[in-house]
Amino acid sequence: MILKVVLTRMLTDALGRRISYLRISVVDACNLRCVYCMPAHGMHFTKFSKLMSPREIGIISSAAASLGTTTIRITGGEPLVRQDIEEIAAEIAEAGIRDIPISTNGIFLEQHAEALASSGVTRANVSLDTLNAERFRSITRGGDIQRVLNGIEAAERSGIWPIKLNTVLMKGVNTDELVELAEFALTRGYSIRFIEMMPLKNNVDFQQELFFPAALAKRKLSSRFTLHPSNESTGQGPAVYYNVEGYEGKIGFITPLSGNFCSRCNRVRITSDGRLRMCLFGDNMLDIVGIIRSGGGEKEVADALRHAIAGKPERHFLDIGKTSSETLYSMSQIGG
Ligand code: SAM
Ligand code: SF4
Repeated sequence: MILKVVLTRMLTDALGRRISYLRISVVDACNLRCVYCMPAHGMHFTKFSKLMSPREIGIISSAAASLGTTTIRITGGEPLVRQDIEEIAAEIAEAGIRDIPISTNGIFLEQHAEALASSGVTRANVSLDTLNAERFRSITRGGDIQRVLNGIEAAERSGIWPIKLNTVLMKGVNTDELVELAEFALTRGYSIRFIEMMPLKNNVDFQQELFFPAALAKRKLSSRFTLHPSNESTGQGPAVYYNVEGYEGKIGFITPLSGNFCSRCNRVRITSDGRLRMCLFGDNMLDIVGIIRSGGGEKEVADALRHAIAGKPERHFLDIGKTSSETLYSMSQIGG
């Protein structure tokens, strides 16, 4: 009986995919300018006063929780550029969400780690594309790798666990370091995911030039590690994971171009301007924060979520060479 009640609460789209995971981009601004994500100059970000407030995020989280959402990821832009980030995490926790991962570039993680952990953040994904300080500065256009490494350690000390590293594959830029990056992660008990670079509003030529398929990354890694397919790969979102003999952490690959993962999609996103986005690369969006700003509450938001998610698109078309229209959002607005 209890099982039946829980199942009828679950959000399911028209294709029967159970949507239990919401990603919220809490800000589009960032303190870095990674070459694959943003141009060096000319980005226009939403004014902080126009972003979703912690309370608005709390209402959305309660609505999502009432529909069976179990995980809400805080992402961006760079979520830690928001002064009220702990308040946001606390609102999500208060809504009854127990699994609250954060995606961060790690630069401000050291000073926030403890407060994040006590506000309810459970685990972290940290971007790390290289272990070389000069290369890091060049890829991120100015970032200091030491701060990221300190941030990762601080997160671990604060009990934020597990930690996953995210590495975007860039041919000739960091593909000579894949084994070292994996060793760095695995010897510390972290997992690492290698991500194929996606074409975005700002990087189309660059992306074509530097694209490196995950299959080649896997081949390089297999020369050093023994990989066995992991159960974590099935039904859990886009990454395909491998257990690594001798280590607890896993190696994962995210293949938006070389392998479509939409049939096991379990997520929807809220963009930094408060729109529900059903697919990473689909343009159909619903102004969720607008519902709250025009007087709606948790019930109205839950109704809108249920209705919109029923129409979640079947798939994106990146793997067959199509991006969405010229209304492409930047990755920082969508939240990765
Ligand atoms: N600022 C945080 C960070 O860098 O981790 C969180 C937001 S970032 C948009 C989320 C993820 O998107 C990061 O792992 C980043 O590497 C990835 N990303 C950004 N642009 C990408 C692209 N063009 N292709 C593939 N992944 C990308
Ligand atoms: Fe900022 Fe993350 Fe984009 Fe890099 S990938 S520019 S850290 S949002």
